[in-house]
Amino acid sequence: MSSRISFSEQVNRYFDTAAALTKHDPTLLAQIRECNFVGRFAFPVQLDNGHIEVIHAWRAQHSNHKMPTKGGIRFAPDVCEDEVIALASLMTYKCAIVNVPFGGAKGGVAIDRKKYSPRELERITRRFIYELHRKNFIGPGIDVPAPDFGTGPTEMAWIADTYQSLNSSELNAMAAVTGKPIELGGIRGRTEATGLGVFYGVREACSVDEDMKRIGLTAGIEGKTVVIQGFGNVGYHTAKFFQENGAKVIAIGELAGVVYNANGLDIQALDQHRRETGSILGTPGAELLPSGTPVLELECDILIPAALENVITIENASRIKAKIIGEAANGPTTADANDILIKRGALIIPDAYLNAGGVTVSYFEWLKNLSHVRFGRLEKRFEEMAFRRLLSAVENATEQKFNQEMIKLYSRGADEQDLVRSGLEETMAGSYQEIRNIQLRLGGNIDLRTAAFISAIDKIALCYAELGIFP
Ligand code: GLU
Repeated sequence: MSSRISFSEQVNRYFDTAAALTKHDPTLLAQIRECNFVGRFAFPVQLDNGHIEVIHAWRAQHSNHKMPTKGGIRFAPDVCEDEVIALASLMTYKCAIVNVPFGGAKGGVAIDRKKYSPRELERITRRFIYELHRKNFIGPGIDVPAPDFGTGPTEMAWIADTYQSLNSSELNAMAAVTGKPIELGGIRGRTEATGLGVFYGVREACSVDEDMKRIGLTAGIEGKTVVIQGFGNVGYHTAKFFQENGAKVIAIGELAGVVYNANGLDIQALDQHRRETGSILGTPGAELLPSGTPVLELECDILIPAALENVITIENASRIKAKIIGEAANGPTTADANDILIKRGALIIPDAYLNAGGVTVSYFEWLKNLSHVRFGRLEKRFEEMAFRRLLSAVENATEQKFNQEMIKLYSRGADEQDLVRSGLEETMAGSYQEIRNIQLRLGGNIDLRTAAFISAIDKIALCYAELGIFP
């Protein structure tokens, strides 16, 4: 089959492979696979020089089996309708895989953000939200955007503000968008959530002894070599958590070049250098590899594509040497490339599971906004008092004395970030076990992606079954 099939067809091919292994009614499967709504928008925006530009944008709502639908808005020059449909479908499966009770959606605005001033970006964002609102495409119980490629907390703040001004009496208006700055109802731990989720997911895969043996590795993260494509929010945080947990991040590739250190790059130094100079190139201790070096083809234990879709293709798949491929980006591996890698025995941890940390913490943010209270606010002090009472009981029973530092450490109650990270870890670990159990149930002959899709299909099918429409 050709590798030139569209992005949404790629996702559908993964879906079909998994669907064939289930016993669901074909019409039900067709309903799950289909994208429910796509809105195509064109609106004028005034540039700083007074000229008017027509901006093109899309929002796809793939599945309404649970409401609201959920998914980011990306700013990218070549974003198109097929891309947002594909990404929205991935959101549906992603949410189901990690038990986040949303349908899938995705938005795209066809702009290169580098070409616009902050005020122009603000006008584009606000106008897009105005258009979405006009079509009833946004709201805490309808469809909830979030950051994606090319967008971040600032855009989410504009979205929240625009939505709120259009719905001034809506008590839950802040729950209409996630990934907001903390001051505007955001949640601690959202910024690093996708990268941390990637780390938790890979760690979970690496903890299974027999799976590691099969690919010639030992269990655990410590000492494993990691190569990352992309050093945006996801790439940076993934690299940071791998390094903090004893892995060696030996190479990071960006459009401008690939930096390398066989003993492990210093991720904080790279970040610091980028803040100061705008680039990771030239960071002390990070060797610049010859221009054009394909980062994805470097020798390593774990390869993390953390940039855009369709980067591992039929053209380069046979040259990729990594034993584990952790898909931090959405759709980095084409279906043909996937077959090549699986055939040579690579362990692919699929995007629809591995990068679900972002939407998982978005779910926590949405819950926080609906409950109008910060996680931990009610119980933190109570927990601390309970721990202190326990410590003094231990002191009385054992005659051991804890010093002030120990008391502070042992009696700390959980704050919002602790709770978010704990919820994220629980989600990533639990979902991995669900996927692996499906693999085992089917005799161990299917890859993780197929198992993850089966997990999603089964859960979505259950929702439809409750409606009694399908046999
Ligand atoms: N854009 C992210 C993703 O692709 C996050 C979506 C969200 O938080 O709703 O998963």
